Amino acid sequence: MSGGLRFTVLGSGTAKPDPARGPTGFLLQAHGASVLIDGGSGTLHRLARVGVDAVELDAGVYSHRHVDHSGDFVPLLFAMCVPPKRTRPYPVFAGEGFDAFHLGLREVYGKWIRPPGGVPLTTLPLDGPGLALLPGGVTLRTLPANHSAGALHLRFELGPHAIVFSGDTGPSDNLVELAAGADLLVCECAGSDAEPIGGHLTPSAVRDLVAEAQPEEVWLTHFYPHVDVHAAVERVAEAGVPVRRAADGDVWAVG
Ligand SMILES: [Zn+2]
Ligand SMILES: [Zn+2]
Repeated sequence: MSGGLRFTVLGSGTAKPDPARGPTGFLLQAHGASVLIDGGSGTLHRLARVGVDAVELDAGVYSHRHVDHSGDFVPLLFAMCVPPKRTRPYPVFAGEGFDAFHLGLREVYGKWIRPPGGVPLTTLPLDGPGLALLPGGVTLRTLPANHSAGALHLRFELGPHAIVFSGDTGPSDNLVELAAGADLLVCECAGSDAEPIGGHLTPSAVRDLVAEAQPEEVWLTHFYPHVDVHAAVERVAEAGVPVRRAADGDVWAVG
């Protein structure tokens, strides 16, 4: 592909199994580089469906360690260890604590998840802004999310363009700050106004932060089964920004 930015939804669902939606995962592509963002179970299969060999990914970025966002990390590393093995490093970017998480997995799985090129980790702070340069020339900016498991909000920038992923979060001024003026905000909406889920957003909370941050467009994701999605989309649309529910396979591209 050319010098543009391409964002593919691999998983728009949650921890609850759904026939049409995998748990959280996205693919970001720029300047020929492919970067995995999160990756719950089934992500490797869905990458293959969009023509990307997971073993050849250029990097991985994790919003946090919950299983619905990181469940395919072990299968990914194992795939890199099965001949023909991956010999170049697989760089990973994640919040503090991911190193201990990774080490723990290595204790359990040993050589099965130790690809020869190594898995260098860039750790991003949980108490302030983080910054890293990703393959493809994409700048990653992070701020701590209002969640657990070392959670971050992620902003991906290439030239004048920016895509922001909320990760999992409760109401968060940091998300308002990071999403300000973004081309696309991909935002979780796990709970309903009547039945909120702790550490997550509701439609009214998303509406309020969107009204403040004014991204160009909002894609909602991570709805738990009890949420009335149609009502949630209408509620968020009160912010005056185009909004819709993300679906697995959706692509956003520019340039
Ligand atoms: Zn979570
Ligand atoms: Zn989640």
